[in-house]
Amino acid sequence: FPSRLPNVGTTIFTVMSALAAKTGAVNLGQGFPDFDCDAALLDAVSKAMRDGHNQYAPMAGAQPLRHAISKKIAACYGRTYDPDTEITVTAGATEALTNAILCSVSPGDEVIVLEPCYDSYVPAIELAGGTAVTVSLNVPEYSIPFDKLAAAIGPRTRLLIINTPHNPTGRILHGDDMRRLAEMLRGTDVLVLSDEVYEHMVFDGVAHESVARHPELAARSFVVSSFGKTYHTTGWKIGYVAAPAPLSAELRKVHQFNTFSVNTPMQIGLAQHLGNPAPYRDLPAFYARKRDHFRTGLAASRFKLLPCEGTYFQCVDYSAISSMPEAEFAQWLTTEHGVAAIPVSAFYREPRDSGIVRFCFAKREETLDAAIAKLVRL
Ligand code: PMP
Ligand code: GLN
Repeated sequence: FPSRLPNVGTTIFTVMSALAAKTGAVNLGQGFPDFDCDAALLDAVSKAMRDGHNQYAPMAGAQPLRHAISKKIAACYGRTYDPDTEITVTAGATEALTNAILCSVSPGDEVIVLEPCYDSYVPAIELAGGTAVTVSLNVPEYSIPFDKLAAAIGPRTRLLIINTPHNPTGRILHGDDMRRLAEMLRGTDVLVLSDEVYEHMVFDGVAHESVARHPELAARSFVVSSFGKTYHTTGWKIGYVAAPAPLSAELRKVHQFNTFSVNTPMQIGLAQHLGNPAPYRDLPAFYARKRDHFRTGLAASRFKLLPCEGTYFQCVDYSAISSMPEAEFAQWLTTEHGVAAIPVSAFYREPRDSGIVRFCFAKREETLDAAIAKLVRL
């Protein structure tokens, strides 16, 4: 039967994790920690289960969690989202992103994505019947090319997707970028989908620039985050969308028939945990130490380190080592040298190669050291 997604294969993260498992390579490919979450969070979730929170949560999310999210966003970014009408708990950021796209994009609409971009955006746009219009970020700094972006906005543009801190490049957007975006969109009816799953991983004393800080942008935006990143629980698949009530109402129409609701005890446990700001306030220093450890180890290698301002990803230029295309290099690195990485070309729609791969440094020091020992030999 005709495929709805004829150009889509298996996601690169699944492919590289399977190859790492098969070959026994150190897996710095797919982004997930190799250490456990806070024991207090586990206790809160098991208590929630024992306390009988084991039936359907409300469709929009457990009430205590929506309240805790609202308080956290207000404390961090100074904007209050109504927990009843403006916050929706989803099965990870992946569901949040797809729902935001499905509820806002109609067949024939255009959606602007800035490449390189996370691999779920374009297939979700295509499922909605929309057309992805890609604008490449300026290389090598991966900043927004405002002139090209302005030129890409037309009468059919429905949505613009941004991502900060940025996967895979680890670059971040600044206040000035947000002001320019607000100015550019003024007078249009273009919506914004802001993927901020790495909001609590911004380094070197810089504050995360959420669209929630910018009233004009926030009024037209779906803001997406994920507890998987913030609490070292990628396997729990819980995230959320904060958006003005009319946008949230449309999003919930999709969410209610996509999953209906997200598992209850973890929402109750997370609600309790979110009341304490220490874990997410400590996260930048926690991950900056890992970044610095990894970068210091690789300084002795022939990989050229690209800047990393946020996320738990470090991109490297391997052109001094090999002229292989990125996908081939990532496979070779995994099978022949025992370290799995992600080719940055997987974040582009058209095949292209810049000799860059991405490593995930959300790992214990001994895991990073095992990878470094192999990488410095190349
Ligand atoms: N967006 C980006 C930029 C990501 O890196 C990820 C996680 N890989 C997601 C969305 C999906 O997050 P979740 O695991 O919560 O679905
Ligand atoms: N976001 C993770 C990454 O970029 C992977 C998530 C997934 O495998 N779907 O590596």
